[in-house]
Amino acid sequence: MNILFKNVRVITMDDEMPYLENAYVVVSDKKISYVGTTMPEGEFSRIIDASGKVMMPGFVNTHTHIPMTLFRGLSDDCELSDWLFNHIFPAEDKLTGEKVLAGTKLALAEMIASGTTSFSDSYFFTDEIAEATVQSGICANLSRSIVGNGEDFENMPSVSEMKRLLEYVKENGDGRVIADISIHAEYTTESLCRIKTAEYAKKNNLILQIHTSETEAEHKNCIEKYGKTPVELFASEGLLEGTHPLLAHCCYITENDMEILKSYDGHIAHCPMSNLKLASGVAPVPEMMRRGVNVTLGTDGVASNNNTDMFEEMKLFAVLHKGIEKKATVTDAYVALKIATANGNLAQGRKNCGKIAEGYFANLILVDFERPHLVPCHNVISNIVYAAKGSDVVMTMVHGRVLYENNEFKTIDIEKAMYNVKGIK
Ligand SMILES: [Zn+2]
Repeated sequence: MNILFKNVRVITMDDEMPYLENAYVVVSDKKISYVGTTMPEGEFSRIIDASGKVMMPGFVNTHTHIPMTLFRGLSDDCELSDWLFNHIFPAEDKLTGEKVLAGTKLALAEMIASGTTSFSDSYFFTDEIAEATVQSGICANLSRSIVGNGEDFENMPSVSEMKRLLEYVKENGDGRVIADISIHAEYTTESLCRIKTAEYAKKNNLILQIHTSETEAEHKNCIEKYGKTPVELFASEGLLEGTHPLLAHCCYITENDMEILKSYDGHIAHCPMSNLKLASGVAPVPEMMRRGVNVTLGTDGVASNNNTDMFEEMKLFAVLHKGIEKKATVTDAYVALKIATANGNLAQGRKNCGKIAEGYFANLILVDFERPHLVPCHNVISNIVYAAKGSDVVMTMVHGRVLYENNEFKTIDIEKAMYNVKGIK
């Protein structure tokens, strides 16, 4: 199948030529086969006149727990320990596979409709999450969150589930849905468990996700217990070597931690909205970037966000650190767009993703610029970062397949997905 987009403004995310006006883009099967300003020759199964629209690579949300969509608005405006122990953990205790499946389908719809083409997740009930994710057509790095002491590791139910996930995506994921592995956090695991999980990651060449230094208490308690920061501890346990680590939050990491992460080619999932809403703090992202650590962007679970709109997350990132550092030049719109797209692909280990360029996977979105809040358009990238919203997305394509177009979902029964979630008690 050959799809031609014509009259389209393209944010290519190619540093040498980041923007094209009146361009043509051809998608052949899963990949982009042409990008340019002259009309390509050939037969096309579909021609899309994208006048008034902007094409860009889809968002990569690198830290999610997608079934937590079920807990949207369940508990707001309370301290993290109250939120977690009195609201979220009790609600999670009542989860079933059926409920998780319902929450997952709704989350997938929300993400696809607001321009996310790939995400990295860690949760439980991954049989259900994997099945719905594969069916939806989106890209994802899914993982089963591992907690516990690690004794009899091979027979832990969570480890059995993790192995099933790995087998399932190998058979059904088509390279689009793949498996990562996840240590929940330092404070919910013993050393043996972390070491065994990392060994499994290395053996199977999986990316290791870990919640790291999310709160000041977590960070300080780790230093008290081990005499090391969480990052120092993970490095000393051998967790970071050869596991392509993706560490979420990192609000309290030190400059030494950053150097350690850089030495292991580690990646950071920055989740500013969740960190602010739960009053956890703000990650020192400009310093991470100055030191060359790859920073990516995540929404975290909807229970602490309360949506998965990456436009919101990107704008928050773009303005937050200006305020913190009292310096308007500390980030800019192009950097914000890059951390929300291409940097995420890098952390997910996905090659040929994150640009509108020949040979790249057609993971792209169209944003309607004929909206009051997007006029005038002095600078397309500025409007995308500082003015656009998830609801401006009119098409989402993943691996060359249209998943969403003009309010219509091609792979998800949205009425049923919303009905099923509303019916959960
Ligand atoms: Zn999280």
